[in-house]
Amino acid sequence: MSFQNAQRRYSFEFFPPKSEPARQRLSKTVQKLAPLRPSFVSVTFGAGGSTREGSFQTASEIIRTTNLDVTPHLSCIGSTREQIATQLQTYRAIGVKRVVALRGDVPEGEAELPRAFAYANELVGFIRSYGGFEISVAAYPEFHPEAPGPDADVANFVRKVRAGATEAITQYFYSNDAYYRFVDWVRRLGVEIPVVPGIMPLTDFKQVERFSRFCGAEIPGWIRKRMHALEGDARGQEELGIELAVRQAEDLLQSGAPGLHFYTLNRAEPTLRIWDGLGLSENAAETLAQPSVN
Ligand code: FAD
Repeated sequence: MSFQNAQRRYSFEFFPPKSEPARQRLSKTVQKLAPLRPSFVSVTFGAGGSTREGSFQTASEIIRTTNLDVTPHLSCIGSTREQIATQLQTYRAIGVKRVVALRGDVPEGEAELPRAFAYANELVGFIRSYGGFEISVAAYPEFHPEAPGPDADVANFVRKVRAGATEAITQYFYSNDAYYRFVDWVRRLGVEIPVVPGIMPLTDFKQVERFSRFCGAEIPGWIRKRMHALEGDARGQEELGIELAVRQAEDLLQSGAPGLHFYTLNRAEPTLRIWDGLGLSENAAETLAQPSVN
């Protein structure tokens, strides 16, 4: 079965680098991933003082140096309405056609930050009335950690979609059942937009384990045990992480997922290897010649 067809879209996420060596590393990563011809690459937004400008700089550098479509993330936290309008105007001027609209989080140690809107649905509405952008939003198959419960969180997700989102990208997860059930649930509530699974390969298990504690993504016990058994063997853990990601992504695509969003952590190799593991490279030429349904 070909996982490359007109119905599928693939995207890669980067974060703005914080130093010159990191900027150069990201530039190499982008050059290695660009030949895969993703639908777009996205650049995260950091609400903290020095990182705020980073998203724009990184997005414009990728636009300047590649032919990739770039999708910057925007958050309600860290900007005023006027600043968001200016950001949209600037992005439009450099050819951006899609943004990821988020509430965002207050970075550690930053108590006072402007907050244009309370929740992402209001930002989506604002961007929608500004006009001219496709809008991606975040989805949480295992539910957002601050939500009072699954029903409230799903209702809030639906609110973002009704406000004008054209696509959702999920928080990473390792239980595909959580994703399938989430998609079934929101479909029953009338959501028709694609819900694209976010893939975070467990290449740095300790780091993902730490992050998962507060972002609401669960690492199943059997994966923890296998990773713990490889403690001290970073290479072994990375190999296992990539193998698990290939199997997970294969199952998602076989079950009809509309594509994949790769959390690259600014590294090319894991995404390249998963791409190969899924046979996406071999399918590319055939697909470009003749787009088709599965
Ligand atoms: P919302 O959809 O606003 O939801 C936040 C919480 O509020 C949820 O618990 C929800 O149930 C609740 N809620 C929503 N609407 C309402 C309402 N109207 N009334 C009451 N409660 C409501 N963070 C960054 O800082 N920068 C990034 O670039 C970034 N990129 C991301 C990309 C993806 C694909 C994902 C999945 C997450 C990303 N995040 C990013 C993390 C995200 O900002 C956090 O998870 C944040 O806590 C929630 O953002 P949101 O847009 O999902 O918020």
